[in-house]
Amino acid sequence: MSEEKKQQQLKEVCRSRGVSLTPQRRAIMRALAVRGDHPTADQLYDDLSCQMPGMSRTTVYRVLETFVKLGLVRKVDSRASKAHFDADVTLHPHLVCLDCGKVCDFEDRDFGVLKPPAMTDDGFQIVDYAVTLVGYCRQCRHHEKASSD
Ligand SMILES: [Zn+2]
Ligand SMILES: [Zn+2]
Repeated sequence: MSEEKKQQQLKEVCRSRGVSLTPQRRAIMRALAVRGDHPTADQLYDDLSCQMPGMSRTTVYRVLETFVKLGLVRKVDSRASKAHFDADVTLHPHLVCLDCGKVCDFEDRDFGVLKPPAMTDDGFQIVDYAVTLVGYCRQCRHHEKASSD
């Protein structure tokens, strides 16, 4: 989804859910949508701190949580202690590097598509699931080789 379409979606969701569309929210959504590399809140804060000098790190964290609740942004199941965010909320698998923590989209978007039941026999209601492939990215594999020589 383009950055422009994402802004449109943000506008519509804010209107329908009675959430105000502040300049901060617009800027944070823009910063996330243009990157497309699943940044952390801190990375987005770094991107935004010169554009919007008055914005605090806490605001970035809080707005991202709001976006997740509104279904506008997904938190990637990345195994990292810091959450990575994705403006693409459609279900798609991710590749996560165990070394540098980089998160990428896996090229085959239909890989690992499951049809979980809505409820388990125990009464656990299933609302979502994630497909995460973990390993080592090309760069980290090269570093590994270089250092072991
Ligand atoms: Zn890596
Ligand atoms: Zn993604």
